[in-house]
Amino acid sequence: MKILVINAGSSSLKYQLYDMTDESVLAKGQVERIGMETAILVHRPAGKDEHREVSEILDHTAAIRKVVSALTHPEYGVLSSMDEIQAVGHRVVHGGEYFSDSVLVTPDVKQKIRELFDLAPLHNPAHMMGINAVEVTLPDVPQAVVFDTAFHQTMPPHAYLYPIPMVLYNKHKVRRYGFHGTSHMYVSQRAADLAGRPLEALKIITCHIGNGASCTAIMGGKSVDTSMGMTPLEGLMMGTRSGDIDPAIVPYVMAKEELTINEVNSMLNKHSGLIAISGISSDVREIQEAMAAGHEAAKLAYDMYEYRIRKCIGAYAAAMNGVDVIVFTAGVGENSHILRERVLDGLTYLGVELDREANEKGKGERRITTEASKVAAYVIPTNEELVIARDTYRLVANRP
Ligand code: ADP
Repeated sequence: MKILVINAGSSSLKYQLYDMTDESVLAKGQVERIGMETAILVHRPAGKDEHREVSEILDHTAAIRKVVSALTHPEYGVLSSMDEIQAVGHRVVHGGEYFSDSVLVTPDVKQKIRELFDLAPLHNPAHMMGINAVEVTLPDVPQAVVFDTAFHQTMPPHAYLYPIPMVLYNKHKVRRYGFHGTSHMYVSQRAADLAGRPLEALKIITCHIGNGASCTAIMGGKSVDTSMGMTPLEGLMMGTRSGDIDPAIVPYVMAKEELTINEVNSMLNKHSGLIAISGISSDVREIQEAMAAGHEAAKLAYDMYEYRIRKCIGAYAAAMNGVDVIVFTAGVGENSHILRERVLDGLTYLGVELDREANEKGKGERRITTEASKVAAYVIPTNEELVIARDTYRLVANRP
């Protein structure tokens, strides 16, 4: 079965085409600047040259048409006809309390995703445009949706509720949902495989550290706590997001600086985190380079960034009364040996003993602690698209 995986944003759309017989990626790419006359398609077919094209792509339906025509193109395509696409899987950021697993798209599912627009105003409406665009372009193809929040629906109430009036939960569903669930789930399962132990027996802390960042406490394969909350702003310090701050700062700063709700939202989401403290960049590579050159503000930003990750791991070890495995994934987690070293060197009290050689010199999926280490730490590249393809395959193959 060939499955197209789609991650639709408001002005961009990423895709990967999987052949599920061997889970190989036949092609991947993205459309950027949707809505403009100078939209760009970058198409990367496996084993062939990349194809780039600038053209007018005014909406998501036009973007999907463009993708399908690239996939079936005689020269740079990988399919002989669009009938070969047998299912489409979408990433959807917010599934609220409705979805604890991936589902096939139905009118009811679409209605629920719509009801969640308020909780994810930047994401869910864009995903819906992607779903509708596929419905128009490939009307007979079944679609599935895979939610970033679903894996965290196993959190107990004491972890997902905020200590604020219950009426806000009852009326408006104000609670912690957590995000990056697909990634946390994938890397925790891989970690159990690598450790050669059953997932059910393990206490795992997964650190997804990219531009967005979150840590998750996973007991027996189930998420029991995670650092992002009602929105992806809570928790760790990130590239441009503040993470946890005293909520009283918001009204205080709004009054002092005469900020609107939009302005304060933008301050916390786009102008905080690493970029705010370093004054130079939200990109960890650039922060590390500046640090090496003696830039004091970059050093402070990095200290804060690492400190908050380490505190979160400590908190989750307490939440689970222990930890067997720590996993690092996503752009920073997979690539920055400096960050991993700094975090793990501060966890010797847990019995963590870093294998410096494996941490610095190793590549790809690997253990980065010594054999003697009481806690095993791993680097595991995440693969959210593969999870989406697998879930879509499972749902479509098992359709009644
Ligand atoms: P997103 O959350 O947008 O998917 P990514 O997971 O791609 O983000 O992570 C992007 C981050 O990864 C950036 O801060 C980038 O600097 C960092 N990164 C990528 N490669 C390296 C590297 N070799 N060393 C340190 N940081 C890296």
